[in-house]
Amino acid sequence: MTAKILKINPKKIGHARLRPVADAIRKGKLVIFPTETIYGIGANALDAKAVRGIYRAKGRPSKNPLIVHVDSMRMAKEMGDIPKKYESRIAKAWPGAVTFVVKVRKIVPRVVTGGLETVAIRMPEDRLTRELVSMSGVPIAAPSANMHGRPSPTSARHVIGDFKSKVAFIVDAGRSKYGVESTIVDLSTFTLLRPGAFPVEDIERIFKMRLNVPEQARGTRDSRKALSPGMKYKHYAPSTPLFLFTGKPDTIGRLVKGIDANIAFLGSSETCMRIGGRMITIPLGSRSDLREIAHNLFDRLRFLDSLGVDFVIAESFSEKGMGLAVMNRLRRASQHLEFRTRKGLLDLKRLSQL
Ligand code: AMP
Ligand code: MG
Repeated sequence: MTAKILKINPKKIGHARLRPVADAIRKGKLVIFPTETIYGIGANALDAKAVRGIYRAKGRPSKNPLIVHVDSMRMAKEMGDIPKKYESRIAKAWPGAVTFVVKVRKIVPRVVTGGLETVAIRMPEDRLTRELVSMSGVPIAAPSANMHGRPSPTSARHVIGDFKSKVAFIVDAGRSKYGVESTIVDLSTFTLLRPGAFPVEDIERIFKMRLNVPEQARGTRDSRKALSPGMKYKHYAPSTPLFLFTGKPDTIGRLVKGIDANIAFLGSSETCMRIGGRMITIPLGSRSDLREIAHNLFDRLRFLDSLGVDFVIAESFSEKGMGLAVMNRLRRASQHLEFRTRKGLLDLKRLSQL
């Protein structure tokens, strides 16, 4: 099979052009499609055989459940038990980049939930994505369209190499609006499972409640019990070793002076301008614009593997708003190779020679 690549102008969705994609989904085929967060690889969520194909195509462990994308509250209620007390608040957050985990209904095959009694449901903000669900007439189960463990795709060119022989269609609508995955909230305990494109502050404002934000949601070292199945696994990792620098950005240039290695630096445009010279710099955007940093992050994580450097040093950011998602991804991409002091730098030196 070779995927048909379909370019769609997100401002002028041609329904006739989307029709064959919707038909393919209904018939149990796999499709890669854009959302406002990242690109997803999806199938009819009610077709267990089709959903098994997603895990196979990604090399994803069968215990790492998928998100079910719906086009309406009515469809959401068919898939899961939406608590009455939260319904009007969920309706305010949706359509949006936030996924809610609730009790699953029988209609959803357990392969979608990785065997769990709960299901993750989202009504995407992107009109094209919702249109695709509506035209298919079924909910679409989809994780990110990347091979297991790799950075998520934020444009169609990120998926073609790995997936063109595995799916029926790749729908290309340009770069994803946010560039990081949805925020995931467990509604049974009102706990953040994964920070994402929908800021915690906005959820608290809409729900008029304090969200539980456990330490692991920040992406710090995995605890014995992962918050959500997906958190157990290595994630977002470029092939090049990545070290997260948690000290003062201005000192990075000085710290790497004596090291005999090819190093790249991934950080704010401000720090990139200041450190120059010794390292190849990969600017993510201005420190004051965390949305822009998030928007560029996965694309730059993929790009840095093409540089052939020995290792990469990434800058740390504020955890306000979208920053929490950015730091979660950076911590996990770094596989917790963090340093902040000269003493830490010695570890860095040793690790870089592995
Ligand atoms: P991805 O879209 O590739 O980021 O994958 C979907 C994420 O949703 C994974 O990290 C899953 O662990 C999480 N998820 C899906 N269903 C559930 C669930 N029932 N409970 C907790 N987390 C879930
Ligand atoms: Mg993923």
